[in-house]
Amino acid sequence: VDCAICQNIAAGKPDSYLFENNEWLLRHSRETNIEGYLILEARRHILDLSQATANEIASYGPMLAMATRAIRKVVAPEKVYTFTLAEAVPHLHIHLIPRAKDMPRAWRGRGILAYPLTPAVNAATLPEVCRALRQELKRQMIIG
Ligand SMILES: [Zn+2]
Repeated sequence: VDCAICQNIAAGKPDSYLFENNEWLLRHSRETNIEGYLILEARRHILDLSQATANEIASYGPMLAMATRAIRKVVAPEKVYTFTLAEAVPHLHIHLIPRAKDMPRAWRGRGILAYPLTPAVNAATLPEVCRALRQELKRQMIIG
């Protein structure tokens, strides 16, 4: 398999995922220094929702809503951007990017695609952010 997302899923590192079910996996992005930047990945190697099963479609909305709520709760952004491109890795994954109140104008809206990849995620504070996100996701599962 030459797909990076499939390889990560096959490697089975549950610690790196914040949440998973039969259809989706949720992890924190390490590609930028934006805390709360999550990536929702389809468990199966599909390009987009046109190839999704009924179960994948049924749980897509709830997963997106849960992840968006967790981001709002933990990092309190002004907006949460969600989009999928699947150009670098042709495996369905959705970017959920918190856009803070003080985000410079150049990176707002479509500008987010030009957001710098360095510095990378802050390894010192990431564990605490992930702990809070996991706790919030678990809380949402409990209250349904
Ligand atoms: Zn794949």
